[in-house]
Amino acid sequence: MNFITKLFGLNKKEKSEKDFDLNIKNFDSINSFWEFISEQDKWYLKYSPYRIKNIDKHLSELEPLIIQSTNQLRDKMEFSYDEYWKIINWDNLLINADMDETNKFKRDEKIKFRQLCSNCKVEKGFQQRYPKSICGSCHEKITDISGRKVEFFNTHWSGGGCQGYYIGTEQKEKYDSELCYINVKEYFAEEARFGGIVIQLKE
Ligand SMILES: [Zn+2]
Repeated sequence: MNFITKLFGLNKKEKSEKDFDLNIKNFDSINSFWEFISEQDKWYLKYSPYRIKNIDKHLSELEPLIIQSTNQLRDKMEFSYDEYWKIINWDNLLINADMDETNKFKRDEKIKFRQLCSNCKVEKGFQQRYPKSICGSCHEKITDISGRKVEFFNTHWSGGGCQGYYIGTEQKEKYDSELCYINVKEYFAEEARFGGIVIQLKE
């Protein structure tokens, strides 16, 4: 069973033409395939990598094209959080294939996923789950709606929970909202999946 079949949760037998929207073999080249896909407005909502026949045979050629496109989308940050899950399907195509030992494909580590701070646009570490998070120095800029500085901490030793406090009150004056602001932009704080706090732009 190849990894695409595994990701689909389908047996080969169950796959038929109706499971696919496109077949890469019908294009002159991988470049022309990717041009066709990525030139369409919000292409990631129209096409899923798991509905493209023979895509698994061209991952090395597709890798720089896909990552360049998803990096550009992350830079622009015009997607909603719901839409973002469709974008990362394309990144995950590469990540999952790389992790699958039965697959020949190995990620080219020189080709990096890029993510910018949603406030100051500095390049920050790629956090796939948190596409609109802010960088470390912007964490120090967050305030309540009146402009008074706040900070958030986990409430549990294991890294769970999220509680806000006014800065300079030694965690005595609580700030009981997950909403916070940088100038007029609205953000929200939440516990990060593996501990810590993540602050993201609110939709
Ligand atoms: Zn920043």
